[in-house]
Amino acid sequence: MSAGHLVVPKGADCEALSLPVFSLNKGEGPRLLIAGGCHGNELEGPIVARRLLNWLPDSQTCGKVIILPVLNPPAVQAWSRNTPTDGLNLNRAFPGCADGSVTERIADAVSRLLLPTVDTVFDLHSFGPTWDFPPASVTHPIADADLMAKTVKMAEAFKFPMTLIWEYHDTRGMFDTLVQNQGKVFVCAELGGGTVGFEALAMYELGVRNALIALGLVEGKAEYPAFRQQKSSQTLETLSSDELKSPIRGIFEPRCSVLDEVKQGDVVGILHPMESLSTASVIMHAPTTSIVCAIRSGAHVDAYEGVALLGRQFEL
Ligand SMILES: [Zn+2]
Repeated sequence: MSAGHLVVPKGADCEALSLPVFSLNKGEGPRLLIAGGCHGNELEGPIVARRLLNWLPDSQTCGKVIILPVLNPPAVQAWSRNTPTDGLNLNRAFPGCADGSVTERIADAVSRLLLPTVDTVFDLHSFGPTWDFPPASVTHPIADADLMAKTVKMAEAFKFPMTLIWEYHDTRGMFDTLVQNQGKVFVCAELGGGTVGFEALAMYELGVRNALIALGLVEGKAEYPAFRQQKSSQTLETLSSDELKSPIRGIFEPRCSVLDEVKQGDVVGILHPMESLSTASVIMHAPTTSIVCAIRSGAHVDAYEGVALLGRQFEL
């Protein structure tokens, strides 16, 4: 294993950054980049990336793996989703810009120096504290049908309880989009919670190991992680029109859990307007029979904010 740094040159807003990067080369085979810490308040990824360094050098049988535990050090240091210096979301800054602000320079260095050396990218995120979300691998619909099929297969190989094909419109500048436009496979892993816990980390690490086995980079047998006493997974899709939005500001009471099936008309949750005793609570129903992909857990919601992502079984 060789350890080095990805240097992000200094700019008008800050000094140069040196991002620790590890490269494991075992000859011919798949070439994979594993990155964590794109969003600075999602810390499972950097921890799992570091854990891989303990066993992957001995287990890897072929190919090349580049591990970049922290994509955005200023955001991780500040425990902030976006970079504090320029306020930008790194996952909307790709492919970046060499003479831009620090977030754009990070995106540029990754795009120019690391991306050309790999064929597959695993980007390790977390879903955050305001949603209940099952451990999942996530991708977005891709126009190229072959790449879509390859990407879904790779995402399913993590064997997380949910593989989610998530359609939404704000995809400009995403790391995913850049990588996929180059015809490469990109899978985003998302673990819920917002708290870094022992069991979630074990599940995350197992999922990444399963994906490494599927790529043929390590030998072994893939295993489903246990989630709520079950060892299984399903592939779901959610469209942007499937997001249930809160009609009012209030406190959201969920009435179902992730991966539950809800029938048309079932109660998904209730919104309680707390400012007024005379205003009735709003009951939110499932518009169609669907599976709950995500539901709000942070209770305060503003009007027009999402409270649930509903979906259905996905078939290619
Ligand atoms: Zn994220």
